[in-house]
Amino acid sequence: MSSEQRFNLDDLKRADAEHHLHPFTDSKEINAQGTRVIVKADGVYIWDAEGHKLLDGMAGLWCVNIGYGRKELAEAAYRQMQELPYYNSFFQCTTPPTIALAEVLAELAPAHINHVFFTGSGSESNDTVVRMVRRYWDLLGESQKTVIISRNNAYHGSTMAAASLGGMKFMHEQGGLPLPGIVHIDQPYWYGEGGDSEPADFGLRIAQQLEQKILELGLDRVAAFIGEPVQGAGGVIIPPETYWPEIQRICDKYGILLIVDEVICGFGRMGKWFGSDYYGIRADFMPIAKGLSSGYLPIGGVMVSDRITEVLIDKCGEFAHGYTYSGHPVAAAVALANLRILREEKIVETVGGETGPYLQKRWAELADHPLVGEARGVGFLGALELVKDKSKRERYPKVGKVGSLCRDMSIENGLVMRAVGDTMIISPPLVATSTHIDELIERAKKSLDAALERIPTLDFNE
Ligand SMILES: *Cc1c(COP(=O)(O)O)cnc(C)c1O
Repeated sequence: MSSEQRFNLDDLKRADAEHHLHPFTDSKEINAQGTRVIVKADGVYIWDAEGHKLLDGMAGLWCVNIGYGRKELAEAAYRQMQELPYYNSFFQCTTPPTIALAEVLAELAPAHINHVFFTGSGSESNDTVVRMVRRYWDLLGESQKTVIISRNNAYHGSTMAAASLGGMKFMHEQGGLPLPGIVHIDQPYWYGEGGDSEPADFGLRIAQQLEQKILELGLDRVAAFIGEPVQGAGGVIIPPETYWPEIQRICDKYGILLIVDEVICGFGRMGKWFGSDYYGIRADFMPIAKGLSSGYLPIGGVMVSDRITEVLIDKCGEFAHGYTYSGHPVAAAVALANLRILREEKIVETVGGETGPYLQKRWAELADHPLVGEARGVGFLGALELVKDKSKRERYPKVGKVGSLCRDMSIENGLVMRAVGDTMIISPPLVATSTHIDELIERAKKSLDAALERIPTLDFNE
């Protein structure tokens, strides 16, 4: 059954190097070392072409919430493809799975959110939000209200508007971003930027930058604020408890729209259906993707609150925006099957009440490791801050070196963990059991030991 027999791995790697440009990749470097070819997956495990079995601590890219290998999703796609592989939702048409998915999403979302605009990805969802926010204020006769305030080190996707909303400097530098009208305030990253302050004070102070920014720019220009409930790609940054209530207060006080990017936090990642539920945030827009289909097919959307749809629907006429694949029937059928499994198997409740707390209890043990300055997490998200000196929160020089080493050791020990600088992160499939969690922790410990042992061999001057 071994997949190596179906192809010659060297040929594959050569063809990949010759013809395939990878996302977020140094092609020269990857072509020299050869890519890791993943050939199959089941449950919480993936296999590479060399036969290594890895526990996928990242659920693909934060998305395979129900785990790999669920035939129900394959069958839903197969049935829908035979019945109607494609039709669009433009020009007064749509398809049954698209409608059914919109209805289920309205049921799952907070009570004041009852509509969805479908897209093909999280990035498209955030581009859509920018269009909708500006359209909303325009319809209210305030077309000068265009500015969206985001945070440094946020991640909202990779298209022009989404990358602008994101706060990744290294992305902005390539391509003249951010677009005009998108500005950034600090992120609520206590471990990295909180200095000597108490987390609660820090959370308040950072949230209050929103108010300062609104006043600085002028309320007549500010349209909205966008944030991930917990920053994912930025390094699983969990805001202090004081942060979101203060953001909500400021948005309410000034009447600016609140966009809660649920692309990672949605669909159970935090042990609730949405990150907004976890923090009690009242969003005007919730961009979604990833866990919506557990990554089995690309699909995303923007969930839109009633106060917005009242304006967009009643006053709008045609909203001149949409994608060929908005509400794609096969992707919608797969998303429906995914949501049915999440509901019927009570996967979100299990993460909230049992496996999430267990993962957090075990993950917290890693804080005892000499290399770990902080072990934090919530639901099925976790982060480890790798440091040289815990007592001073002191990093190793050349941030990223120790993280990359630890990530390589982790792969060697059969666990996919990702490194963001010197922060190790996990986001496992939501179906991981306590046995899988024990295995994850054991492998993470081994990886930390192996990394610590090899640090003296690193050349920090390189
Ligand atoms: C991944 C991600 C996106 C972008 O989604 P794509 O499907 O990759 O375009 C947007 N927002 C957040 C919070 C994400 O993690």
